[in-house]
Amino acid sequence: MMNLSAPFSAGEKRLKGRIFDIQAYSVHDGPGCRSTVFLAGCPFRCAWCCNPESFQNRQGKLYRATQCINSRERPCTRCADACPYGAVNDTADTDPAHPIRFDQTICQRCTTFECVDSCLVGALEHISKEYTVDELMGILSRDRHYWSGNGGVTFSGGDPMMQSEFLIAVLKRCREAYIHTAIETEGAAETETYLKVMEHISFAFNDLKHMDPEKHREFTGASNERVLANIRALASSNWPGRLVLRAPVIEGFNDTEENFHAVGEFMNELGLTEFNMLPFHRLGVSKWEQLGMEYAYADSKPTDREKLLKLKRALESHGVSCYVGNDTPF
Ligand code: SF4
Ligand code: SF4
Repeated sequence: MMNLSAPFSAGEKRLKGRIFDIQAYSVHDGPGCRSTVFLAGCPFRCAWCCNPESFQNRQGKLYRATQCINSRERPCTRCADACPYGAVNDTADTDPAHPIRFDQTICQRCTTFECVDSCLVGALEHISKEYTVDELMGILSRDRHYWSGNGGVTFSGGDPMMQSEFLIAVLKRCREAYIHTAIETEGAAETETYLKVMEHISFAFNDLKHMDPEKHREFTGASNERVLANIRALASSNWPGRLVLRAPVIEGFNDTEENFHAVGEFMNELGLTEFNMLPFHRLGVSKWEQLGMEYAYADSKPTDREKLLKLKRALESHGVSCYVGNDTPF
């Protein structure tokens, strides 16, 4: 077997990617059992996002109030003492369940994060870490023994295409090592970059959250025009991979038959046949809290099954195979 840790070139050696998670036993991120690598950075700002720590391709911190030991009886001032910018406020008296509050206007501009290493109980954690191509390939090399025969690596985020140079370098190494590659992308990169990345991908989930550009901009912060253009470009290229379009179903945004009829017509026009509909869930809520950000969907309920079936039927009326949640054929 090829040594995945062997460096390819001096240029590649200098490249670093910012990664916020690597999951070794993913079974819903493409065919078989896989490793999923989550790269930081996203062009959208969806208020329902379950990985809000991916929004920025820079260092940040998480604060877990449930692990913080600061209390009126036994004060802990370690992070307050370590912060050179005065961003830590002791709230043990007024809010014992949340005994520290950070001034996010200061923390968002921080580049040093002294507070994180000062905490001895793990209540503070760096969001992400930089890896060289070699370091990441070393981890994948270790994990590949656990993949199933049709498994491999999935690059997710955020949108992994936000770090395209690093991503392409890793993908080239995967190809050399006969590793199956998949991607979960917003599909909003420059078309040239998008197609360049896809050259090295065998299986792609490309989000298509809404067909209407204005509605898309209102809810994600950006228009869908480039997403549609990229999907068109890929579908009309000779790309030999498998493309599955995907969207979470969000109440008040895209949960209408009208939208999914429009998606079906678009897919029909391009000869695309597979869509993965993801029911809304609130699994990301604790991350929003840990980042000190407000979660707008805290009171929303998981998507109603009847509604999902109605939307699925709308899509399937256009000859598209619609998989709901993890009920997929891959
Ligand atoms: S992230 Fe920076 S500014 Fe915020 S508390 Fe930590 S050290 Fe201070
Ligand atoms: S150092 Fe850790 S345990 Fe102490 S107050 Fe800060 S977050 Fe809480």
